[in-house]
Parts: sequence; C-alpha cells; structure tokens
Amino acid sequence: MIPYYCGVKANQKGIFKVHAEGCSYLQTKEKYIFLGQFNDCHQALKSAKLKHPYRMFDGCRHCAPDCQEW
Ligand SMILES: [Zn+2]
Repeated sequence: MIPYYCGVKANQKGIFKVHAEGCSYLQTKEKYIFLGQFNDCHQALKSAKLKHPYRMFDGCRHCAPDCQEW
C-alpha cells in the first residue's frame, strides 16, 4: 500500500494533482491533503473523486504517470 496525497489548491487548469508518497513535489507536505493508502494511483484517484465529486483530479506526471490524463 502506498500513501497518496492531493494538492490543497488546484493548479492553473483547475485540476487537483494526486501524488504518491516520496514524490519530489511533496517536499512541502502542508500544501497537500492525505488521501489514504492505496495499491495504485487508480484507486487513489477513484477515492478522491468519490470524496470530492465536483473536483477534477489527475495523476502527477512524475509519480503517477499511469493516471495522468491531462
Ligand atoms: Zn507527484
């Protein structure tokens, strides 16, 4: 299981990027919300979308490229 986090704020495109523990983008953890522990980024994104159905989530290009759509 891998801990996943998403940004507190959306990026310029209005998307909340989802990151795995250990991503170099997660150096400032106070800017991220802990989503939970998941087997992969697909599960993490599914859970994030269920909790926040009106937000757009996307996998980080660096730590979750399999889940990157935009
Ligand atoms: Zn990342």
